[in-house]
Amino acid sequence: MSIGRHNRSFHKGFYSDNALDFSKRSSFDRDVMLERVYPRRLILPMLQHYGDECVPAVKIGQTVTIGQCIGAPAPGSMAVPIHSGISGTVTDIKPVVLPDGRTSRAVMIEGDRKRTFHPSVRPRNNVNVSAATVMGIIRDAGIVGMGGEGIPTIVKLNRAKRMKVKELLINCLQSEPYADSDYLILCEYADYVIMGAVAMAGACGLHVINILISKDRKNEIAALRNAMERSFSKYSGYAFNFIYLKPRFPQGYYRMVARTLYDVNLEEGESLEGRCRAVMFNCSTVYACWNAIAESMPLTSRAVSISTEDGLLRNVIAPIGTPVSELFDTASNASSSSKVVVWGNCFTGLQIDNPETTPILKTTSGVCLITDVAEVDAPCTGCGRCSDVCPMDLEPDKLYKLIAGGKEQAADKFGAARCINCGVCSYICPSHIKMGSLIGGYASTKRKAPASPYLAVGDRQWVDDVSLLSADQVSTAESRQPSRDTMTLPFEGWESE
Ligand code: SF4
Ligand code: SF4
Repeated sequence: MSIGRHNRSFHKGFYSDNALDFSKRSSFDRDVMLERVYPRRLILPMLQHYGDECVPAVKIGQTVTIGQCIGAPAPGSMAVPIHSGISGTVTDIKPVVLPDGRTSRAVMIEGDRKRTFHPSVRPRNNVNVSAATVMGIIRDAGIVGMGGEGIPTIVKLNRAKRMKVKELLINCLQSEPYADSDYLILCEYADYVIMGAVAMAGACGLHVINILISKDRKNEIAALRNAMERSFSKYSGYAFNFIYLKPRFPQGYYRMVARTLYDVNLEEGESLEGRCRAVMFNCSTVYACWNAIAESMPLTSRAVSISTEDGLLRNVIAPIGTPVSELFDTASNASSSSKVVVWGNCFTGLQIDNPETTPILKTTSGVCLITDVAEVDAPCTGCGRCSDVCPMDLEPDKLYKLIAGGKEQAADKFGAARCINCGVCSYICPSHIKMGSLIGGYASTKRKAPASPYLAVGDRQWVDDVSLLSADQVSTAESRQPSRDTMTLPFEGWESE
């Protein structure tokens, strides 16, 4: 194993020393880091990923346990299973509207407070498994991009393998104010992140692992380095590189990463894998992969940052499907003056009206309580600040006027579809013009047809192709047995302790 280091950065965005005070990004307190939320009920939509809706695998009245599959992919669909994070009883299955406007059936589970685990959830005796088995475990554990993209991880792994990518990128660049959930994972589960990275690299046939992280994250860097040293004897032949970036937002988007690391401007429909020969995963996703490999635990919970406009309240580990209202119940010092609940983080999140009926999903890394900025009828002053900070080099003021005025073709000519909906233009605007959501919403409608790179080239087939295991059966006894086929790095000779 070798460890290298590089300093990189992209232009624009927010710097810590100007518009956005990153010093407010409070480190979490060790006392509350491992706080786990045990909700009374779950709302589990069958659509929590990029792709097709799952089919409920349970019936009303059925009892379920932690780790049990309650939603399975339909044959031939691009989907990964959904599992329960509590034990209890299925009380209803009905359509719900997600905050992003999508409609999905959801399985409602009333908890029994017993925290009974499915018999399949137990440490794997032997993680000396083949690349194909790693792929199957990750697929059947229902793991998706937890940084927000929601693309099934198995799709990206397959794509990386097929395109013969050269580098695995671990995205540790969570950069929204008050969002710390990924850093919680890095500090508390650094060993899982390192072993997960090696497992995923091995599954794709890669040997170079680049860790992208803000240079001010000293504790997290130290935790990762310590984990590498502890794991050194477990594997060899993998080169780890730390790539340090200045703290700014939005540095973790794949397009920003392509520009920063490879000096490539990705066009619509292009992927990191195809153009840059690299595949990137969020660090929480990598942790979830190793949790599935080593503990046989599917993706049933995640770290969530609970914050108000005054700062981060706390990080919790919450079952996926926990209603947002139950998260704020745990944050007892939430400001009573807060008026708006945001599903997601403060720049890119979506305002919701019903926290009792809106759950966190596999992709929800934060929830916020904020006082809404008053709608000000102030006109654009032409100050140009929105253009100065737009990481996609757009002119948000111009695009806003064109889209709001119905001149969409003209907006297209000025690149509206390239907007990544980062929200910094709205944040910086002295007139409080909410242009980011309008431009970002327009851009996402443009991107739906003709599909993103992850639906355009046969990914559905790759979801079905990979595994030694049968679909939606991550928890079968067979899957927990050591693989009989040829052992593949990185697990040769490595036994769990
Ligand atoms: S920041 Fe606001 S006021 Fe300034 S140019 Fe942009 S839209 Fe106009
Ligand atoms: S929301 Fe879109 S237009 Fe606004 S700064 Fe971000 S990328 Fe640019």
